[in-house]
Amino acid sequence: MLQPVVLISALEHYEYCARQCALIHGDGVWMDNAHTVRGTHAHRRVDSGEHRHERGVLTLRSIPLWSEALGLSGRADVVEVSDGAVYPVEHKSGVRHGRAADLQVCAQAMCLEEMLQVDVPRGFVWYGGTRRRQAVAFDEALRGDVREMISAIRSQMLSGELPDAPADSRCDECQLKPHCLPHDTASAEQIAERAAKELLL
Ligand code: SF4
Repeated sequence: MLQPVVLISALEHYEYCARQCALIHGDGVWMDNAHTVRGTHAHRRVDSGEHRHERGVLTLRSIPLWSEALGLSGRADVVEVSDGAVYPVEHKSGVRHGRAADLQVCAQAMCLEEMLQVDVPRGFVWYGGTRRRQAVAFDEALRGDVREMISAIRSQMLSGELPDAPADSRCDECQLKPHCLPHDTASAEQIAERAAKELLL
């Protein structure tokens, strides 16, 4: 049976909220909010596709990626080549939020390894909020988490399952909130759990 290809961007959405991932990658829903517009604006340079060679580093922008072994496809914001090493650099407009970007950049590295038949042991995430890049080691634990997440996303796509809304603080920042209506679709247990947490704050 043909397996659906998972987009690298789905890993970030799934890490944030499995329901958000199902709405975007299963139902094809997309909405912008201030965060996504800021992100698009900040990405203009890397989306330009302009390459650069400076101080011994070749910087390639907006590079298509795929892995037949993982059934994965997407695009790297930046791939740098320096001293024979190849590594992806993911660009984020804000500050670090958990490990979503680490998973994304590791998935990009796994694609590069298959496409170029090279080892890619580490990469970077550049955060616009701090204007610094952070190194990410692609160890076996992170690679295993990437594989597991691809499999979970694929199962979700095949089943058509729409997970329950967590209806927690993530929803306040989520661009899909007007479509998802998390507080109307949350279960009674989730609403009670959230109310209890808010009372304890
Ligand atoms: S509004 Fe909340 S439950 Fe709905 S997709 Fe966004 S984060 Fe998930």
